[in-house]
Amino acid sequence: MDAFYPSQVWKYCPYCGSQKMEWKGGTHCMCCGNCKQRFFINASAAVAALIENEKGELIFTRRKNDPAKNMLDLPGGFIDLGETAEEAVRRELKEELNVDIDDLNYFGSFPNRYLYDGIVYFTLDMVFRCRVNNLSTLQAGDDVGDYVFIAPKNIIPEEIGLDSIRSIAQMIKLKEDPPKQKKEDTV
Ligand SMILES: [Zn+2]
Repeated sequence: MDAFYPSQVWKYCPYCGSQKMEWKGGTHCMCCGNCKQRFFINASAAVAALIENEKGELIFTRRKNDPAKNMLDLPGGFIDLGETAEEAVRRELKEELNVDIDDLNYFGSFPNRYLYDGIVYFTLDMVFRCRVNNLSTLQAGDDVGDYVFIAPKNIIPEEIGLDSIRSIAQMIKLKEDPPKQKKEDTV
């Protein structure tokens, strides 16, 4: 399937119907050559969660749907309009894995491109380290087919479907299982 960026499929101006739509890359907007209206195309905000069990293994989910169907992912999803990132990660964890977050800390952000119905969407995944005291309620739901615990050193990046999530997993794998050089000093 061919993939197109929004700027390649957007043919008509929603205001005046003109076909003179131009992509202004420098200002990240589609501009109508007729009525001069601008339509900004920015990254969609999303969240992902890092959750460890008592053995230090991370929860990965298996995607039920495309893109990257059946491949590994981290729990999370798109932030709803008007929602905070923290609310989104709590909501997604409840929907996808039926768990409640007891504490969370911001980890970092990772840009991604997300192919859906032939269109490439730009996203920014905000990642949180989440502490879940009670994992006994774990149950896959929503767009998650299954879940699996993986020790950071056993992460296989090729099994992870989305670029941003693969980058996060590679970073964690390197951090927790660095190439053998010298031992870290303890403070
Ligand atoms: Zn127009």
